[in-house]
Amino acid sequence: MKQSKLFTKTKKETPKDATSASHKYLVQGGFVDMLMAGVYTYLPLGWRVITKINNIVREEMNAVGAQEMLMPALQPRGIWDETGRWESLNEIMYQFEDRSGKEAGLGATHEEVIYDIVRRNINSYKELPFAIYQIQNKFRNELRAKGGIMRGREFMMKDLYSFHLSQEDLDEYYNKLIQSYKNVYSRCGLEVKVVEASGGIFTKNYSHEFQVISEAGEDNIIYCDACDYAQNVEISKFSVGDDCPKCGDKLKEGKSIEAGNIFQFGDKYAKELKGYATDSNGEKKPILMASYGIGISRLVATIVEIYNDKNGMIWPSSVAPFDAHLISINKNEEAEAIYNKLREKGIEVLYDDRDSSPGQKFADADLIGIPYRLVMSPKTEGKIEVKKRNETETVLKEVDEIIELIRK
Ligand SMILES: [Zn+2]
Repeated sequence: MKQSKLFTKTKKETPKDATSASHKYLVQGGFVDMLMAGVYTYLPLGWRVITKINNIVREEMNAVGAQEMLMPALQPRGIWDETGRWESLNEIMYQFEDRSGKEAGLGATHEEVIYDIVRRNINSYKELPFAIYQIQNKFRNELRAKGGIMRGREFMMKDLYSFHLSQEDLDEYYNKLIQSYKNVYSRCGLEVKVVEASGGIFTKNYSHEFQVISEAGEDNIIYCDACDYAQNVEISKFSVGDDCPKCGDKLKEGKSIEAGNIFQFGDKYAKELKGYATDSNGEKKPILMASYGIGISRLVATIVEIYNDKNGMIWPSSVAPFDAHLISINKNEEAEAIYNKLREKGIEVLYDDRDSSPGQKFADADLIGIPYRLVMSPKTEGKIEVKKRNETETVLKEVDEIIELIRK
């Protein structure tokens, strides 16, 4: 991609209400654009990051046998009345009447929709267990939507639902998904604490949160640095300085970002929405459900909170919008040839061919945060100056060496 053609340009001014690095840099770098509070467009750079995260999520969900599909965001009141959640969620769910006078809402989550499909289609133990997921925008009527894409009114989410005839089977899949989630976060460069949690506004059943330690977070957890032990402050019987019940190290308290959550509903939906299947003895049994969410747009913001410095973002290579940022300083002809060669070899390159000052180009490269910066200038004498975004050292290399380096 040539930067002269990239939609949009970087911005000098920071968003007025920006208090976090992710809000500031994602807007300034041209990754997202605000339409209204809590509602953002993912611009081409931001969309490239989202696409990479979604592909990691898809690989991990497909690996545990889940099937992808897409459910509607626009939903009728009726199924929500069956669980009582039309009333109980009326503050955070967008609800309205359409022109025919029928009430409808925008999905804040999809348990009702998926369970309705399941009860109409699944009758026998032979069809169970199975798991379905989607990657889709959700809507929440947040009173104070702030923090850029960290807490949106419309936001992207991966939600997965699994269905089982026995609690044992549900437990087994639930634990498998905890590992899948750990894989997703680790592939995105994030270290998570798996925290036992109360269900919050959605459920009182058994649930876990995936928390990333960060000052930008809104949650408080008690955790251990030496092992993976962690609990939500609200439900923990431990406090700072106590011995870790798992390894004996001193416990810490810190702010964290909730990057995912999973819930066991058991037979709650079977009872409310009447979903049953016959077991191998011909007996009618409730179809048990668990649901598993990862906020994709929030994950983008979380990665930036963890990986940034005073000059901008520092993307982990697995989710970076491009592999390399090629900058030409008065060497456009030679740089163009390098650009073409890198692309032929399958390397994703943002090529700064603009008629801007070197200072502007370097500042933009730091802000956008692509892992490798490649500079061609009269000083590099036919070679390319290579610098990693998170390092200060520069080295001169031939193009073939660079291809090898990036492929690693
Ligand atoms: Zn510990």
